[in-house]
Amino acid sequence: MSKPRVATAWLGGCSGCHMSFLDMDERLIDLADKIELVYSPIADVKEFPTNVDVALVEGAVTNSENEELAHQIRRNARFVISFGDCATTGNVTALRNKFSVEAIEHRSYIELSDKNPMVPNEYETIAKLMKKAVPLHEVITVDFFLHGCPPSADEIWFAVTELLAGRTPVLSTAYLRFG
Ligand code: SF4
Repeated sequence: MSKPRVATAWLGGCSGCHMSFLDMDERLIDLADKIELVYSPIADVKEFPTNVDVALVEGAVTNSENEELAHQIRRNARFVISFGDCATTGNVTALRNKFSVEAIEHRSYIELSDKNPMVPNEYETIAKLMKKAVPLHEVITVDFFLHGCPPSADEIWFAVTELLAGRTPVLSTAYLRFG
């Protein structure tokens, strides 16, 4: 019997949620027996695959590449999990929302560029920032939410193993916290 196909994706986040995923430590060995990891920043896969069973998506949607990947994930994954507070609420990534895109680009690509100043047509090749960084569910339908910055390894393990067992993960109040 083929194993469930699991993906993890990284949008506008710091990768801390993926670090927490790796914090499952020896449970990763159990997980590796039960699943096929078909897409992840920790695997060298360029295109989001088809027929994914569970996708964990870290980070807010903050630029055109994030938005495109979010739609690809939704088209190809049976269950989408909003993975951590940035995906769930915008969190740290959305702190930039009080500034205009122009001010952020100027600060990032001109004032703080090590190629000071970066010429405008160089940074025009970088993915376009959306006007606001938004949580994942404002762009695509999300099936489950994992809170926390980052969610704990125990919470990730619980949610993924419940889904793989064909059950709906009911997160206890211990897991329903932000930050
Ligand atoms: S929720 Fe926290 S750990 Fe996860 S991507 Fe956002 S800032 Fe990083």
